[in-house]
Amino acid sequence: MTAVVSEAIDEVRGVLDRAGDSIVVGGRPGPAAGGDLIETFDPATGDAIASIAAGTAEDVDRAVAAATRALGPWQELSPAARGRFLYDIASLIEENAQELATLETLDNGKPLTESMYLDVSIAAEVFRYYAGWCTKLSGQTVPISPPVGNFFTYTLREPLGVVGLIVPWNFPLLIASWKLAPALAAGNSVVLKPSEMTSLTALRLAELANEAGLPAGVVNLVTGFGQTAGQALIEHPGVAKISFTGSTATGQKIVAASAPSLKKLTLELGGKSANIVFPDADLAGAAQGALAAIFLNQGQVCCAGSRLFVHRSVHDEFVGELASAAGAIQLGHGLVDGTEMGPLISGAQRERVEGYLASGTDEGATLVCGGVRPNGELTPGNFLTPAVFTDVRDDMRIAREEIFGPVLTVLAFDDEDEVVRRANDSEFGLAAGLWTSDVKRSHRVAHRLQAGTVWVNQYNMLDPAAPFGGYKASGYGRDLGEESLIGFTQTKSVWVGLD
Ligand code: NAD
Repeated sequence: MTAVVSEAIDEVRGVLDRAGDSIVVGGRPGPAAGGDLIETFDPATGDAIASIAAGTAEDVDRAVAAATRALGPWQELSPAARGRFLYDIASLIEENAQELATLETLDNGKPLTESMYLDVSIAAEVFRYYAGWCTKLSGQTVPISPPVGNFFTYTLREPLGVVGLIVPWNFPLLIASWKLAPALAAGNSVVLKPSEMTSLTALRLAELANEAGLPAGVVNLVTGFGQTAGQALIEHPGVAKISFTGSTATGQKIVAASAPSLKKLTLELGGKSANIVFPDADLAGAAQGALAAIFLNQGQVCCAGSRLFVHRSVHDEFVGELASAAGAIQLGHGLVDGTEMGPLISGAQRERVEGYLASGTDEGATLVCGGVRPNGELTPGNFLTPAVFTDVRDDMRIAREEIFGPVLTVLAFDDEDEVVRRANDSEFGLAAGLWTSDVKRSHRVAHRLQAGTVWVNQYNMLDPAAPFGGYKASGYGRDLGEESLIGFTQTKSVWVGLD
């Protein structure tokens, strides 16, 4: 382990040492009811860095009870007072940015600059954005037309109650914030269940919420496995809604498991997003954008631009540039200066991605670069060099299934109608990108693409105000923006007889 990594571990030692008490119920951290622990690893070295509590159904039950008790004190606060708590959480995230970013990089592997300027800084902005909404969430007066009588009718936006937030390992702090901030702004109390592979920043976030002085039990944390802690949260009768981000397969299980209690659901699931380069684009900019679109976070991004459609007239030149730029990406430990790409989250994830690399070659695609485990000091980590496939057909597994790793599939196309049809020929519909200097084409194609977000001449842009979520098997409901806030409320119509 390099000096830089051991120094960073020393800096966050306090959090690592208390990770075994990661069940935070009613403001108090403690161990899991069964006392079991889950080891968490630095994916760049394979070293165990901490052990978190393996929460059980009993822990979920206690957390839901604490959250239920906290609803009164939380909802009695004025909207402005609730908003001030959210502003305070945003400030605390910023004050602890270095620690949070270091924890995220150690736990997930992503480069520290990404943890700092993407995950942590947007998380703070998300809290600030929803803090402002607390005083703006309002109902409507309704112009009704009754056959008899005279009424004043209006709507109220009421919180749902206790909500469960289940988040994945690729953007642990960021996605937890996407859900926690609007849930709280709307007046709900929460039980957060992070991924068993990356729970450290969630623990810190729960601590910061308590430090901000939120009434005890408004924010509860149950770490643990999906099949135990997650499943218990979904089945719990005291939970009104589950907001989930993760794989489509788990999303389907959640729909089934939540049916008996008819929970409301928001599901942010997988993707296989099309990124289209038209021949009239700024090709140098598009090449940079296409690389960032797929290789950010080692390709473990739900909206990754993993299907790159390039116009045949510029295809060969474009692929040449892509391959040489991909080959120059600096792999390393995320805490080491100059690292542009870290390891995959786990050995199992790397093997899964390697399975796709083999299937691409078997089905006749050409691997132009990458897809190998680097040697030397990176050997113990879960590293894989960035891969680019050409000669890809739409029916190949690498063009249809979510790989969730650093693998770009490049497909040639000839005209606009054809590429729109092929881009939409996917079970997923999370995001899409297109690169063109023709303003009419940009809007025309953006409107025709079946995706929850379309970026034009850019990729992976996010803002707390812009809703994010999927069409088709990429899920339903939205994170971010006003829509997420509304999704954490229910509407009541009130009729007041005036005669
Ligand atoms: P995952 O589905 O394996 O796990 C996500 C979360 O669900 C984890 O906290 C896990 O413990 C929990 N879980 C697993 N099984 C469960 C069950 N039976 N009941 C309840 N909870 C359960 O996903 P992952 O591997 O952590 O993340 C990768 C996936 O997430 C990819 O498919 C990716 O596309 C998707 N993702 C989507 C978005 C989006 O906004 N659409 C964002 C990020 C990631």
